[in-house]
Amino acid sequence: MFKALVLDKSPGFTAAVREVDDAFLPDGDVTVDIDYSTLNYKDALAITHSAPVVREWPMVAGVDGAGTVRESSHPAWRPGDRVILDGFGVGERHKGCLAQRARLRGDWLVRLPEAFTTRQAMAIGTAGYTAMLCVMALERHGLEPGDGEVLVTGATGGVGSVAVALLARLGYHVVAATGKSAEAPYLMTLGATAVIGREELSAPGKPLQKERWRAVVDAVGSHTLANACAQTRYGGAVAACGLAQGADLPATVMPFILRGIALLGVDSVMAPLARRNEAWTRLARDLDPSLLETITREIALSEAIDTAHALVAGKIRGRIVVRTTD
Ligand code: NDP
Repeated sequence: MFKALVLDKSPGFTAAVREVDDAFLPDGDVTVDIDYSTLNYKDALAITHSAPVVREWPMVAGVDGAGTVRESSHPAWRPGDRVILDGFGVGERHKGCLAQRARLRGDWLVRLPEAFTTRQAMAIGTAGYTAMLCVMALERHGLEPGDGEVLVTGATGGVGSVAVALLARLGYHVVAATGKSAEAPYLMTLGATAVIGREELSAPGKPLQKERWRAVVDAVGSHTLANACAQTRYGGAVAACGLAQGADLPATVMPFILRGIALLGVDSVMAPLARRNEAWTRLARDLDPSLLETITREIALSEAIDTAHALVAGKIRGRIVVRTTD
């Protein structure tokens, strides 16, 4: 028997840490003993039943996990290998990693970089790996340090915190937009050179505004994303990965056709393995591990449900890592 955070909806929605056995696990060719999982925004939506994230019931929550291979019939993996799982519909359509054990597909797994412990990998998690994907997308568009200010929205969140830390370490002038003004010192510790209020971006704005940003990492969507595009300098780029304010995009084509800016969509869930491996290699090189500790708070599996409610309510700073072992 082992513990898992099980979501069910018969008769009504329930979320509870339960004792289950191997028969409860789905098909898969690799069974992993999970050391750590994490709470992403999507996990919090699933656990609080705030959005239709879960597609199969009952479900084990947890889109991310890191641990050690227990059994494998997949040619790439052997017992004892240390692995990371991010996304691929795990925790949505395939039972997930907020559990002491998970059965997964070998084709979904990334080898844990030597630079990281399983705890650090989950401190990064989907949110941090998505921040890295955003930076990589901007670099493919030609972004280089010294080009001007880079805006990060939702800056105290998981994606935002890691994006600020990464961009600052890479030498960019990072402007962090947050609704939590009291967290300005935290954002400066991560490397932000300036902090602005979320309200400067979150209300409806003009189609073209004063040019300011060379690039943007946006975890927020809606008016914030529209205003970020309207303030992006000629030829700049905006990496859009989130919808914390909303899934709408009330924008015009003006920044695209008059300033040639690019809107770069970033998806982590189905990103191909080559890009995942590149992102994890880059994270091992470009993320300061001591800042990762500043960003992270550790909780036990038994605390995950209460913490998910706080996360959906916007009361959490940075990343939550979930210890599954007790
Ligand atoms: P968090 O909850 O950790 O952070 C979101 C942050 O957005 C908050 O901390 C807050 O930052 C800001 N925010 C919250 N509500 C609002 C609002 N109403 N208006 C403006 N800003 C708001 O989530 P994550 O960082 O884990 O994820 C961020 C977004 O990215 C989510 O929408 C998530 O679904 C998405 N995502 C997408 C992925 C992909 O593959 N494309 C992968 C991972 C995440 P502050 O208080 O500092 O303003």
